[in-house]
Amino acid sequence: MSRIVGIDLGTTNCCVAVVDDAKPRVIPNKHGYNTTPSVVAVTETGQRIVGQIAVRQAVTNPEHTVQGAKRLMGRPFDSDEVRHAAAHASFEIVPGPHEDTRIILHGKEHSIPELSAMFLQEMRVVAEDYTGVRVDRAVVTVPAYFNDNQRQAVRDAGAIAGLEVVRILNEPTAAALAFGFGTSEPKTLAVYDLGGGTFDISIVRIDEHGEFHVVSTTGDSFLGGEDFDERVMDFLMKAFYRDNEIDLRESPIALQRVRQAAQKAKTELSSVDETDVSLPFIISTGPTGPRHMEYTVTRQHLEQLTGDLVTRTLQICEIGLQYAQLKPEEIDEVILVGGMTRMPAVQRAVEGYFERPPCKGVHPDEVVALGAALAAHAIEEDRDTGLHDVTAHSLGIMTAGGGFDALIPAMEPVPTKVEELFTTSRDGQTTVKIVVLQGESQWAAENNALGRFALTNLRPGAAGGVRVRVTFTIDEDGIFSVGAKDLDTGEEKTIDVLASSGLSDDEIERMMADSAEFLAFRRAEESREDSRQACSRLIAKLKGVLPEAEKKMAWTPVGANAVEKARKAVQLVETGLSGADDEALTKQHALLLRVEQMIDRALEKAS
Ligand code: AMP
Repeated sequence: MSRIVGIDLGTTNCCVAVVDDAKPRVIPNKHGYNTTPSVVAVTETGQRIVGQIAVRQAVTNPEHTVQGAKRLMGRPFDSDEVRHAAAHASFEIVPGPHEDTRIILHGKEHSIPELSAMFLQEMRVVAEDYTGVRVDRAVVTVPAYFNDNQRQAVRDAGAIAGLEVVRILNEPTAAALAFGFGTSEPKTLAVYDLGGGTFDISIVRIDEHGEFHVVSTTGDSFLGGEDFDERVMDFLMKAFYRDNEIDLRESPIALQRVRQAAQKAKTELSSVDETDVSLPFIISTGPTGPRHMEYTVTRQHLEQLTGDLVTRTLQICEIGLQYAQLKPEEIDEVILVGGMTRMPAVQRAVEGYFERPPCKGVHPDEVVALGAALAAHAIEEDRDTGLHDVTAHSLGIMTAGGGFDALIPAMEPVPTKVEELFTTSRDGQTTVKIVVLQGESQWAAENNALGRFALTNLRPGAAGGVRVRVTFTIDEDGIFSVGAKDLDTGEEKTIDVLASSGLSDDEIERMMADSAEFLAFRRAEESREDSRQACSRLIAKLKGVLPEAEKKMAWTPVGANAVEKARKAVQLVETGLSGADDEALTKQHALLLRVEQMIDRALEKAS
């Protein structure tokens, strides 16, 4: 048996949920938290660590600790977003072989899907530990505004983690599903989703049959909590420079400490009016001697520093409503999703814009995973999910002169496909090249290139040219594919992918093997740890009963001998426990069990 789980792969946190007894439930990790930080680190000894423990060591290992990797997902190295991230990151960002983006950790280059796969794998382990069954399939959520490259990267991440991504679901759509679960009262929802890295606004209509129709969805996949953090960081570092003439960006450790302090201050200011940022010895040595950072940040100041970011989300809401052809007052409920919606200024802005208080009772960090679990459950039971989503971006091709011809407009329900006829014109032309893009600009160069494709081996010199019908498809996951047919011969033509920013099949396979090897290593480590703990429990129990056993049994030579043997066995196992390998642990555990039986029997006889 295996289960399909729902995973929210967030910029800041990941969350996994499953349907149990007809209700979606979030699965806590082994530390007892419902969400796991999307932070991965490689230690000096080459050990990979993920989640809370990676956060804890971030300050001392900033150059090899990655947070916010999702912001780089599916982005070419040569892009404004990657340049911005590189200027703020404490780790090294380098170009990959496909013009993609890579991160170096202790000398090893990692693709972004590979890093995301580490979080998916972590969620898989959390789910397997809870359900007790194999988890090899998942519904994974993504920001609705993610383009094809970013969605492909998530699918690649799933493959690397050994998880089949059975559906890629838009985060706001998942949230609407969880919110509307079990109701059949028709209503129109606005899902305002401001997370750690991305912003989405989706307008969703629930009909009388309990079906969910996304009417419009739009957003910004580079606008989120990290931008708020950066504003606070910039303020703190500028103030420090003004007071000390020291640029803290030159010290990765100082930068990391300021980042964590800025995040903390921002979060605290959601519930208090002012907070102190106190970083003793932010500079500990050097010509100026030790320096401390001590500033007070008020909520009002935070709101000034970030006001334009909040305004930007409202401008995007306006575009979303225009697409949906609705006015704010025509929205029945406003749902807030994402940790950033805890900020009072965000809540006030949304309430002001939609002229109604947002809905209470939705857990902003968990609702997306719960929706994903509901979709996963429907797929598991072979039922329709009842979700009807749309594509957030127009899809089209480059025309002569660098123009963009949109073939599938934004807000088109998915899945969808469109056919386009290409005819060879020149005598002897055997190839047609097609550049596929996503975006809203009339100029190809301003849109997002998904790939360059070539129709080759076309019949040269056919009278009137060769007519090839090319089909562009966007599937339910929002992922694009292309197919072609020679209309005169009926022959399916293969389309060669000339360039795309994704990983090659070989790379994915190598990363999959690495990931599977790591999982096996980790499982073996866990099983060793379990055996060690089982031995420790037996040792503690035996140590507890041995004094009594001695009293009752040591007056006979046989009894004294048994107690002595037991004591030696306990001592032997205890001293060798930490370094024992699998085989030794099995033997030691068996030895302790025998000793336990011997003592129990002897005590029984003696009483
Ligand atoms: P998510 O991606 O939904 O997990 O959102 C995480 C973002 O929400 C991060 O940028 C957090 O710093 C931010 N966040 C979490 N709690 C709060 C809070 N109480 N006030 C303001 N921001 C918060």
